[in-house]
Amino acid sequence: MKLLIIEDEDSLLRSIIDYFTQEDFLCEAASTYQEGMQKATDFQYDCIILDINLPGGSGLQLLEYLRKHKNADGVIIISARNSLDDKIAGLDLGADDYLTKPFHLTELYSRVKALLRRKYASSSNVIEFGQLKLDLLLKTVSYSGQSLLLTKNEYELLLFLLTNKNRVVSRQAIAEHIYGEQTDNLASFDFVYSHIKNLKRKLKEKGGDDFCKQYTAWAINYQYD
Ligand code: CA
Repeated sequence: MKLLIIEDEDSLLRSIIDYFTQEDFLCEAASTYQEGMQKATDFQYDCIILDINLPGGSGLQLLEYLRKHKNADGVIIISARNSLDDKIAGLDLGADDYLTKPFHLTELYSRVKALLRRKYASSSNVIEFGQLKLDLLLKTVSYSGQSLLLTKNEYELLLFLLTNKNRVVSRQAIAEHIYGEQTDNLASFDFVYSHIKNLKRKLKEKGGDDFCKQYTAWAINYQYD
C-alpha cells in the first residue's frame, strides 16, 4: 500500500513516515503545496494524508483540485484547525476523513486502515476475487482455502492488480507501486515480469489455472508482451 504524506511540520512528517514504514506501507512525502500537488497528480496512491496549512497554499484547495480532476485516491485531512467549518469544508470537498492535531499515530493508522477497507474490501478486511482472498490486515493470501506464500513484492503486485482490475496499468505504474521513488534508479522494469511469472506459478500450484486465465485477461492489460 502506498501513502503520500503532505505535511510541512518536519518532526510530524518523520514520525508518520517511520510509523507507517514499520507497518509495511510505502511512504512518500511532500512538505509544500506545490510538491504535494506534483506528486498527487503524477502518481497514484492508496491514501493521501493531507495537512491544511501548507507553505504555498491550502490543503483544501489541493483536495478540491484533485477531486475536480477525478483523482480518487483516499484522503485523510490532518489539521490543527479544530473548527466545525473546516471539517465540513474538507468532507464536502471529498475528504474521506478528518483528524485533528495532535493525534496518536495509532489512531491515524486505524483511520487509514478503515479507509482502505471501505475503498477496497467493503465491510471486511478481505478482498475477494473468485477463489482468491487477500486479507489486508493480516497481509495473507489464499486461493480456494489454501494459503499462498508470497514475497512482499508479489503481495504488493497482486494487491495493486486487484485494486486496479478494471484499468490498464503499465509496467512502470506497477514498478512505482512496488518501489516508489526508487523507481528512478532502476535500469529496467523487467523485474515486474518475473514477479508476475512467479505469482502465476504459485497460483497454479494451488489449482488456480482458471484464475490465471481470467487473471491474464486483465493482467495482460499491461503494456508488455
Ligand atoms: Ca502545516
